[in-house]
Amino acid sequence: MGSIVIRNVVKRYGRGAKANPVIHGVSADIADGEFIVIVGPSGCGKSTLLRMVAGLEEISEGEISIGPRVVNDVEPADRDIAMVFQNYALYPHMSVYDNMAYGLKIARVPKPEIETRVQKAAKILELGALLERKPRELSGGQRQRVAMGRAIVRQPQAFLFDEPLSNLDAKLRAQTRLEIQKLHNELGVTSLFVTHDQVEAMTLAQRMIVMNAGRIEQIGTPEQVYSKPATTFVAGFIGSPPMNLMAGQGDGSRFTLGGTALSLPSAAPRAGALILGLRPEHAEVQPEGRWPMKVEMIEMLGAERLIYGRLGDALFTLRVDATLTPPKLGESVRIDAPPEHLHWFDADTGQRVG
Ligand code: ADP
Repeated sequence: MGSIVIRNVVKRYGRGAKANPVIHGVSADIADGEFIVIVGPSGCGKSTLLRMVAGLEEISEGEISIGPRVVNDVEPADRDIAMVFQNYALYPHMSVYDNMAYGLKIARVPKPEIETRVQKAAKILELGALLERKPRELSGGQRQRVAMGRAIVRQPQAFLFDEPLSNLDAKLRAQTRLEIQKLHNELGVTSLFVTHDQVEAMTLAQRMIVMNAGRIEQIGTPEQVYSKPATTFVAGFIGSPPMNLMAGQGDGSRFTLGGTALSLPSAAPRAGALILGLRPEHAEVQPEGRWPMKVEMIEMLGAERLIYGRLGDALFTLRVDATLTPPKLGESVRIDAPPEHLHWFDADTGQRVG
């Protein structure tokens, strides 16, 4: 019913010789009831893709279906979707109740039905005590909840969220993230959520679509994307601090970078130019470790410390438990990593090879 299918979709802004392609043929299947996050750096085309699903941008090529219907030529108002934007633009002169009821009034939904839907949404969002207030009498988080309430009362086939949390401060963002999860657990409505924030993506998504420069790099669960990134782009984008990515030459159980040969805990998948990836949390300081690293900087984050140094000519970051005694600046330590945490990528294409 509320599935969304995106098939070979291309978007070009402008026409003829001036046409500027920004989405280069993307496909994705979103199941009914799924919570999907589209994540990628600013300008990669996330909002454009979402806006094509919403009907706010024309589709240059390809096809988008919502439920059983191809919606390429269906007006936004007839697509049976509800959008929540970053800029939630409530009507300042209307009460919370009227802000939520307004769309339904316009759609000529009978009054008792409006009352039922608004009360139900208010209960889910814990807005019951605020229904008579004006938006200016609400906190930022409460306003965002009203914006969500407005979407919920429409009982759409899908919710489309365009960076709805980016105007909130960090604490409120974390709290609202939990509320959105709870909401999805209760309502089970298909959701497409756009963000540039990989933490938001990891915590909210059932599956995530990682985009870069108008293309999909990977679609998968947060676990899949974190543990088996399909490309160096995904490896560097998901995870904080990002995965260490080191370009060098593989040769059996050795990897040479900048003239330094590192012995490997397991053989490289093939010989030649490769990129070795290792997450900061998967390397550790060990007296018998295989690789020497000179410590250049240390940051204390509370529960953990980040230790920065150099492996061969590559910068390397380790994330270690803060209860462990840290090395000293300038000290040479030995580090190691279990073989299952090594990631290998083709040096030219950036594609995962092992
Ligand atoms: P994101 O949401 O990932 O930040 P957008 O989808 O907003 O990215 O933009 C993708 C690309 O399309 C960007 O390069 C942007 O400059 C371009 N773009 C967006 N809207 C328009 C427009 N109306 N006209 C021309 N180019 C646009």
